[in-house]
Amino acid sequence: MMNFKGKRVIVTGSAGFIGSHLCDALLQSEAEVLGIDNLICGSENNLSNAKKHQSFSFINADVSLSPASYLPHNYRPDYVFHFASPASPPIYQKYPIETYLVNSQGTHQLLQYLVAKNPSARFVFASTSEVYGNPTVHPQPESYWGNVNPNGIRSCYDESKRMGETICGVHARSFAIDTRIVRIFNTYGPRIGKDDGRIIPNFISQALAGEPLTVYGSGKQTRSLCYIDDLVRGILLHAVSEKTKNETINLGNPLELTVLEIASLIIKQTRSSSSISYLTLPLDDPERRKPDISKAQSLLSWIPEVSVETGLQKTIQYFTNLG
Ligand code: NAD
Ligand code: UDP
Repeated sequence: MMNFKGKRVIVTGSAGFIGSHLCDALLQSEAEVLGIDNLICGSENNLSNAKKHQSFSFINADVSLSPASYLPHNYRPDYVFHFASPASPPIYQKYPIETYLVNSQGTHQLLQYLVAKNPSARFVFASTSEVYGNPTVHPQPESYWGNVNPNGIRSCYDESKRMGETICGVHARSFAIDTRIVRIFNTYGPRIGKDDGRIIPNFISQALAGEPLTVYGSGKQTRSLCYIDDLVRGILLHAVSEKTKNETINLGNPLELTVLEIASLIIKQTRSSSSISYLTLPLDDPERRKPDISKAQSLLSWIPEVSVETGLQKTIQYFTNLG
């Protein structure tokens, strides 16, 4: 693991799925971690491990606001991981304003705070494969600019992530802040919100309850599923590397599966007798998605190591334990 000994690290969205795992990994690497979350869609239960560490503290705040309003006076972070944002389509569609604010205004506020307090800090922004929209290039390399509907039901998320990337670029060029962007492709694992509506929690909960798995549309649309441990390792490598200053990097698992294949895998691995029920495909649901990870491979020597079977098994175990 990377050495963050004595580094002051902010993780926004720390009570969420990815943020909480990031906190755990940073604490293991001896960082002083300050988690910030307003619990709009996360849970403090996700921080039960982090809270055992003396080097962890938590602030309940909305990071779309000025950091001066919630950070201790003159707090100077060495790293900021900006991971706060609803990420599940039904949740960001329920909170469209909060979603576009945290990714745009929140990113601006945090970066302006660094300009004022510590311009040599590193800023890591959680972007998404959604910046590619319904892609016309397959698989998606970082150089592809995407095919996004600017005014559809997913736009509050997709376009604000694109704006967040713009804000990172402006702060790199105009203020010489070291901003690093990670474009995350569908990631799953323990602590993903049980009821947050995404494919993996929905299918596992349904399979364990013996209920039909709700496949939207034909189920022929594809996604690539990355296990959380692989993702966190990639994020931290990107954050510390001397080769990726101001770079944008895709992180995800290139194994492409249809939604129906994912449903079958989960039915098999839970040994469930669930059937499949076909529901309407939501608007603007991307037809296919698969990361081109050659940039992460060459700059960070990163490739995913956890197979989908192993990752799903660990996630199924987590949901079983939740009861
Ligand atoms: P999550 O919903 O589990 O966690 C998000 C956390 O952010 C929650 O705890 C929520 O309460 C917090 N939050 C939201 N708005 C906030 C605000 N204004 N102030 C403070 N806290 C706020 O989602 P996740 O899957 O852990 O995603 C984390 C980040 O990674 C998000 O930025 C998301 O867009 C990005 N991402 C995730 C995936 C994925 O597959 N999981 C894919 C692409 C991008
Ligand atoms: N999906 C599905 N049934 C569900 C939840 C999702 O068929 O109960 C599909 C959804 O239509 C999409 C894919 O699974 O094609 C991934 O959806 P998710 O909401 O997890 O994330 P997205 O990649 O769309 O942001």
